[in-house]
Amino acid sequence: MKSRFIALILLVITLGGIQIAGAQMEQELDKVEGGDFKWQAVVGDFYAPFKEALDHIDEKKDGVRASLQEEVDVQCDKCGRNLIKKWGRNGQFLACPAYPDCRFSRPLEDEAGAIHLDAKCPKCDANLILKTGRYGRFAACERYPDCKHTESYAIGIDCPREKCAGKVVEKVSKRGKVFYGCSKYPDCDWASWDKPVSVECPTCKNPYLVQKSTKSRGEFVKCPECKEEFAEV
Ligand SMILES: [Zn+2]
Ligand SMILES: [Zn+2]
Ligand SMILES: [Zn+2]
Ligand SMILES: [Zn+2]
Repeated sequence: MKSRFIALILLVITLGGIQIAGAQMEQELDKVEGGDFKWQAVVGDFYAPFKEALDHIDEKKDGVRASLQEEVDVQCDKCGRNLIKKWGRNGQFLACPAYPDCRFSRPLEDEAGAIHLDAKCPKCDANLILKTGRYGRFAACERYPDCKHTESYAIGIDCPREKCAGKVVEKVSKRGKVFYGCSKYPDCDWASWDKPVSVECPTCKNPYLVQKSTKSRGEFVKCPECKEEFAEV
């Protein structure tokens, strides 16, 4: 019981990122070891601040989760609520806010299957659509073949580097792996293997987080600076 309790406290300290004066902590634990205190009493003393810190983490996670979701003016086919834009493994999609009660979701694309990007052709002002070619995805003018303009696929967020006017674009490495870079390359060499999302890190104020996904944990977002992890998306 004792060692489990100590493990729990250490876990909670790690989770909460709280810095308790190490010496005081050790003293308290020594007392537990020495049998001066009942462990419940020590838990009581430590629990309140831990609980507060943990609640605070939950708040931050909720904040990140909320900013990852944006309501759009498109109704759910099943229940009529306004859908929300969410970030998934393959970019953004629309999902019902009543999830998990209503599991309706659809990709951000029209009936013809073309994914309309939130960007205009610089040559003729028509919409850009997303296409997939030999070298990965790219944006092309919807008036093709009349207009042959193509450009890198901008995923909809500005380059995170300060004072850079570039956009984050999807690229494919020589080995065929997708990564993200700045449209101003080679003037700006910002790049990331993980897909960035335009949400400020609540902990260190880094201007963006990145999407991660593991088999065991599913999808979540992480700060590339302070490494803190947030809401599953
Ligand atoms: Zn619904
Ligand atoms: Zn065009
Ligand atoms: Zn840049
Ligand atoms: Zn951070």
